[in-house]
Amino acid sequence: MIFLKSDEEIELLRESNQIVAKTHGEMAKIIKPGITAKYIEKIANEFIRDNGATPGFLNYNGFPGAICVSVNEVVVHGIPSNEIVFKEGDIVSVDIGAYKNGFHGDSAYTYCVGEVSEEVMALLRTTKESLYKGIAMARENNRVGDVGYAVQNYCEARGYGVVREMIGHGLGRKLHEDPEVPNYGKRGNGPKLKTGMVICIEPMINMGLRNVVIEKDGWTCRTIDRKPSAHYEHAVAIKKGQADILSSFKYIEDVLGDRFI
Ligand code: MG
Ligand code: MG
Repeated sequence: MIFLKSDEEIELLRESNQIVAKTHGEMAKIIKPGITAKYIEKIANEFIRDNGATPGFLNYNGFPGAICVSVNEVVVHGIPSNEIVFKEGDIVSVDIGAYKNGFHGDSAYTYCVGEVSEEVMALLRTTKESLYKGIAMARENNRVGDVGYAVQNYCEARGYGVVREMIGHGLGRKLHEDPEVPNYGKRGNGPKLKTGMVICIEPMINMGLRNVVIEKDGWTCRTIDRKPSAHYEHAVAIKKGQADILSSFKYIEDVLGDRFI
């Protein structure tokens, strides 16, 4: 069942997503070699709570972290721990949720730790660009398949693997609502997009094979060939014309400056 949101509800969703966006700004300040995933989780957890929200992912279906921290070959759902220490050349996907006033925020960004190889930078640029290709198709009277096709076509044309098992979703009073928003699809297929729908578009794109496995912890999703994977996510509200992006990478850009890709 797809819940259409009123203008007032969309503003509450924007508030939650803006808290997520500002939390990302805090992440951009502290991610560097020698820092642990547990440390950035602590900072995010405190920042979210200082802004009157609660971490949206903590205990979601039993997830044990306040945020997801996924390094290199980990695609999504990495559990923050002290054992995960960032090192020069790593890429770190940070997925953040914040719940406030009954509505969820949800947005992910993949950060570079120091200098990253040009090959990996190309993966990051392509994945991020594919997110905006998807958003460009997210408009009233288009279909979910138009969004997935745009992401898939852009990434596969550049030789990357598009993860099938993990997908985007509706966002609202629940973290995961209908419709499902795959990063692949056929044009003209799937549910029709309507004004008032709020969806998360979140390409998960692999350097190599598209196939993934879940580690024994039951959460950590990594590439089967252990090549790197990137992940960017925005929450958007559908309307006539260009979608309204409720999350933002602005606070990351403010911190990273020239290093923002
Ligand atoms: Mg997310
Ligand atoms: Mg999501």
